[in-house]
Amino acid sequence: MREFLNKFKLRKAILPIICLLSLLLNVTHAPTISSIQAERDEAIQSYEVLQEKSTSLENKVGDLESKVDSLNEEKETSDIEMKNLKNKIVELEQYEETYSELEVKYSELESKYSGLEVKASDIETQLAAKTSELESALAEIETLSASASVSAGTSISSAASGGTGSNGSSETSSSATVYIPKTGSKYHSTSTCSNMKNPSQTSEASAISMGYEKCSKCW
Ligand SMILES: [Zn+2]
Repeated sequence: MREFLNKFKLRKAILPIICLLSLLLNVTHAPTISSIQAERDEAIQSYEVLQEKSTSLENKVGDLESKVDSLNEEKETSDIEMKNLKNKIVELEQYEETYSELEVKYSELESKYSGLEVKASDIETQLAAKTSELESALAEIETLSASASVSAGTSISSAASGGTGSNGSSETSSSATVYIPKTGSKYHSTSTCSNMKNPSQTSEASAISMGYEKCSKCW
């Protein structure tokens, strides 16, 4: 009986300890409905917050994507501009080359022109010297011709005086027979002058009227 009592006492002492322990465990491991609701509400709130965050992040991602697209477009246009600028630079370099070539040609032409100018002035001085030479020669010729005309004047006057003398005789001999060659411009007094062959006969007056002149050998 004592043993039983002792056992009972032990049980009595252990039970509340067990109950206390189980209560404590219940508090920590078995939540009440209100605590579960609170937890659920908290979870819902945090879920909502997270959802909001995710939607805002999605929006941000969309914004960033559109920005990337626009930046890519800008890059493409700037690439095209870069290409155009490079082409222009090449073109300008070519222009520069041709410009320098033209400059070289221009300087060459300038030197040639100055050379020609020197030659032209040389020719001018030569021409001036020759013209003065020619002028002096002309002056000489003039003085010579003047002295010649003086002597010619005397000969002309003597010829004129002689002409008047012979005119009378030619008038009397204009009906005389003369000989005209087949070729030639003179009329002759003899048929054998100047080795004529079969000359035709006519009067001196008609020979003169036909344009023939007196032969100086046979007259
Ligand atoms: Zn003759």
